[in-house]
Amino acid sequence: MKVTFWGAAGEVTGSLHHLEVDGSQYLLDCGLAQGRRKDTERKNRNLPVKAGSIAAVLLSHAHIDHSGNLPTLVKSGFQGPIYATPATVDLCDAMLRDTAHIQEKDAEFVNKRAEHRGRESHGNRLEPVEPLFTMADAERTLPLFQQVGYYTPKSLTGHLSYECYDAGHMLGSSALILHYHDNGERVRLAYSGDLGRPNLPITRPPDPLPPVQYLILESTYGGKLHKSAAHVTGKLQDVVNRTCARGGRIIVPAFAVGRTQQLVLLLHQLANEGHIPSIPIFVDSPLAVDVTAVFRRHVECFNAQTRQYLLEGEDPFGFGRLQYIREASESKKLNDLHGPFVVISASGMCEQGRILHHLRNNLEDPRNTVLITGFQARETLGRKLVEKMREVRVFGEPVTVRAEISSLDELSGHADQSELIEWMKPLAPGLKKVFLVHGEPEQSLALAAAIRAHYGVDVSTPSPGDSFLLEP
Ligand SMILES: [Zn+2]
Repeated sequence: MKVTFWGAAGEVTGSLHHLEVDGSQYLLDCGLAQGRRKDTERKNRNLPVKAGSIAAVLLSHAHIDHSGNLPTLVKSGFQGPIYATPATVDLCDAMLRDTAHIQEKDAEFVNKRAEHRGRESHGNRLEPVEPLFTMADAERTLPLFQQVGYYTPKSLTGHLSYECYDAGHMLGSSALILHYHDNGERVRLAYSGDLGRPNLPITRPPDPLPPVQYLILESTYGGKLHKSAAHVTGKLQDVVNRTCARGGRIIVPAFAVGRTQQLVLLLHQLANEGHIPSIPIFVDSPLAVDVTAVFRRHVECFNAQTRQYLLEGEDPFGFGRLQYIREASESKKLNDLHGPFVVISASGMCEQGRILHHLRNNLEDPRNTVLITGFQARETLGRKLVEKMREVRVFGEPVTVRAEISSLDELSGHADQSELIEWMKPLAPGLKKVFLVHGEPEQSLALAAAIRAHYGVDVSTPSPGDSFLLEP
């Protein structure tokens, strides 16, 4: 078995790992790179693998940085199956269509602007920009998905099978174990996907894995310790009450999938218990509407607390003060509405989508709060806000930041250093090597040092293109 790391090697986004087994080739994830536009364009358009020769894709979860470039793979000639859990398959249906729509709209916008500039300067017309992929490409991708439930071994060839476990990161998220056996030779490789944490709203804690020799482990927060998720409701309550007292608005950039549903659930509980005033809450994202419907269908993925809540007849994703907004015209009306209210909108790293309009309209008013709830990659607008930059650019225009910027790290869907170390404890005695991916270098290096110190295991932090032979 040979593994080659291409995406999310030395960075967080664009997960793409290549496996070669007995001459057959597989991919673990095929995600979109995000961040500085020029770099990500190049990475997303030029797949480092020959799409037509990939036998299958094993997908860990539906987040776009893991699934979002599958239509490019299909467009480039891939025709094999994409294996994923049932909830992941349903989520990808909504998310890949949404991504295709964004790609088409972005290309349209860039071309219109280029045309306009060309006319103004009477200059040469630039070649029109093609979208990364189209809705048609996304729609050719969706039938390739095949459901594989948790804890159900799936045979890929006579010698190779895989099995998935709950990674506790988002609805349907999985950690995978690949099992190769031939003439008494056995190689077992685990891929953590994105690893969640205990005590998060909605999701279950990550499953412990059975023994393996090799582990590909995410390291988003490999050098950090989160504050306990137990304090999250108190902190959310304080932010809401503080902003309400100022008569301001609470703008929450959140991934349409996962964080949005967690926040809605927490706000529901806080309002029910009278800890926050009953102010209107808007979930402003067409994708969140579709995705929330998928959540309602996959109760099997919920933790015991959320199930109990449902059993008591509560609808944690659609309570009375909550409004889902699908149409852009409705979204624009929020500008004229007086506070206080909450708007949850994508994208989570403030890179695209309706959140940009809300930020442009609200960042300059000191009564408002921007509540950051998830990981913000380098070079993103979200990261600049977290780093408390006084001036940022939204749609290319300078905006002065006067609103309160609050971070709710407690809701992070990624395990921190001590949680990663704890999770790999049962695996440690049998491990020959750990590969750290999905982390900025300082995070991966800090985790590598911690793993060596705790377990004395060999750890590698591969760069793009690095290959390793996995021997029994
Ligand atoms: Zn993820």
